[in-house]
Amino acid sequence: MVQTHSNRKVLVLPGDGIGPEIMREVTRVMEFFDKRRIASFDVSEGLVGGSAYDADGVPLTDATLARAQAADAVLFGSVGGPKWEKLPFELQPERGLLKLRKEMDLFANLRPAQVFEALADASSLKRELVAGLDLLIVRELTGGIYFGDPRGIETLPDGTRRGINTEVYTEAEIERVCRAAFELARKRQKRLCEVDKANVMESGLLWREVANRIKPDYPDVELSFMYADNCAMQLVRAPKQFDVIVTSNLFGDLLSDCAAMLTGSLGMLPSASLGAADASGRRKALYEPVHGSAPDIAGQGVANPLASILSFAMMLRYSFDLGDEADLVEASVRNALGSGVRTGDIARTGETRVSTRSMGDAVLHELDKAV
Ligand code: NAD
Repeated sequence: MVQTHSNRKVLVLPGDGIGPEIMREVTRVMEFFDKRRIASFDVSEGLVGGSAYDADGVPLTDATLARAQAADAVLFGSVGGPKWEKLPFELQPERGLLKLRKEMDLFANLRPAQVFEALADASSLKRELVAGLDLLIVRELTGGIYFGDPRGIETLPDGTRRGINTEVYTEAEIERVCRAAFELARKRQKRLCEVDKANVMESGLLWREVANRIKPDYPDVELSFMYADNCAMQLVRAPKQFDVIVTSNLFGDLLSDCAAMLTGSLGMLPSASLGAADASGRRKALYEPVHGSAPDIAGQGVANPLASILSFAMMLRYSFDLGDEADLVEASVRNALGSGVRTGDIARTGETRVSTRSMGDAVLHELDKAV
């Protein structure tokens, strides 16, 4: 294990609902890393979402945003809950997260789908199709049809209406997300599949052209192409054929949810959103579980903290180039599950359900055994 110390600035934003409960377990893992001199972080905390609204009247203050911009990585819990549902749109807890993504220009959304051996039976697919699955979907997050103009609902001269949304991508937008995906593939099995509908959409043709143009910069990465409809089919037919998939905002939205379900549980799914690299190769980045604030179980100490702990592992790998340490966290999660501990969301009938804290303990125990 490499011994590393440095001033890695991490801003922790636990948020609402189960956010603070699950982030507490991540903090314990970080403290373990520090105590064992595996890796140190300069950690500070802030408010976001409903808790920020309660304290400051907005879901994200300018001061917190500035701290996020200055941090090397943001670790985000979850936001939202019934208490804030009636607030005006701009003050809703989720606006805090959307503002962070927009202001930090986080254009690449990373959604891994990894199946842990002990949970292979929880998948909706047969065990042999998903056991050992480890794929990564890179979704373009700030462009495409969700943002393109013209958009809206217009009334035609004959009084009927039509709805309009437009898929628009500039070469620069495609290039930056494809480059990010090539670089990510380099840290994995070195296979990148670009997914589009180039058979019926010109924007898809441009995606292919750009991916092919920059390919020579990544001679070690194999590049392939697939139509989005076929990709949806392949994800449920033979998902293990993929390593990294890069695609547009719309296709990524659908395909990443589809891939997520291969793994069985929302409480297990980490994610990352990355921005542009600066001259030193450093990217702004935010790491968060895919799930929300789970108001139905908040405060009970029963939420699964593994999606957040796995988001922390992604932070180690992608923000700090600590691949061995990320492997260590992932192996500890795998071994904790292997030892039989289950929070309610991943327990089968008859299996004992442990608390958030006990799941954190189990991961720490495995880390302790491994170092
Ligand atoms: P949710 O993900 O919060 O919960 C869906 C179901 O999964 C619930 O039954 C919940 O108990 C369960 N669940 C989720 N995470 C779990 C975990 N770690 N361990 C065990 N069980 C878990 O989605 P929802 O109910 O649609 O939304 C609840 C609130 O969260 C809403 O206010 C919504 O706007 C917000 N939300 C926030 C984010 C975010 O912060 N990124 C994402 C999605 C939803």
